[in-house]
Amino acid sequence: MYDKCIICNSNKWGVFRDSKRLITCNNCSLVKLRKFIIKQDYYRNIKKYKDILIDNKIDARRRNVLDRYKLINNIIKNNNKVLDIGCNEGLFLTLLKSNNIDCIGIEPNKYAYKFAIKNEINVINDYFENVKFNHKFNVITAFHVIEHVNNPVDFVSQINSLLNTDGYLIIETPNINCYRSKKKKDYWEMIKDEHLYYFSSKTLFNLLENNGFIVEKLNLRDFDALYQGMRNQLAKIGIKFYKKIQTKDKSYDNIETKDHNNINHFKLMRLILYYIIKLFKREDYIFVIARKINA
Ligand SMILES: [Zn+2]
Repeated sequence: MYDKCIICNSNKWGVFRDSKRLITCNNCSLVKLRKFIIKQDYYRNIKKYKDILIDNKIDARRRNVLDRYKLINNIIKNNNKVLDIGCNEGLFLTLLKSNNIDCIGIEPNKYAYKFAIKNEINVINDYFENVKFNHKFNVITAFHVIEHVNNPVDFVSQINSLLNTDGYLIIETPNINCYRSKKKKDYWEMIKDEHLYYFSSKTLFNLLENNGFIVEKLNLRDFDALYQGMRNQLAKIGIKFYKKIQTKDKSYDNIETKDHNNINHFKLMRLILYYIIKLFKREDYIFVIARKINA
């Protein structure tokens, strides 16, 4: 009935938790959408990425990019070539460029692409699988991309072939085993048609280690962690406002934007909650640093 598991080849799938939308491989516990309905060309022209670029969250997005950069700036050397797959509005590349790093991005969405090239960074407006390079890279980053691709094994293998030996792949993706995913189940806002695969630390580790990488670091993180909405923070330590949030605000994104107005008022409180969330490993995303090994 279902395709073979892309990680372990098993064809035994079961319902994930009691989800109506997700199934899991009974052998390796990879999770995916029961039904893929997104068409191959979907991302080229969709406008929702356009709205992201003009909204008042751009400062939060800049802080978020800087936070990611701090996690990997020790592995990016001055003479490195860096590729950012799914670079969106190009904020990460802009940051790299300001640090004199040779970098290029790939972004299929035309609105994100147009926004990105205004900052005079190199971006190719296409899907990653269509792009050919005549040189290799030292570091390849893919933030919130692997959950969107039709075949994450092919994706990781193609990246592997573009890296120098000892080059690095950095991946960030939602964590299907995070606290809020377990609590909110099918209402977790990361579960959507665009997200085909849902990784845990274990399944992402297996995917990488089976396809030419050694996982050197596995961190958890959140979007703009120090400044995320306080209601989000409280939800992560088990104090629930879920129902109110669902009726008042249509999306998770709205909540974050709203709460940003109060940033200065609750600075210390936010900081304390931030450390509690870290202590209990309640963050939403997995952040992996993997190194290419000799074939
Ligand atoms: Zn499997």
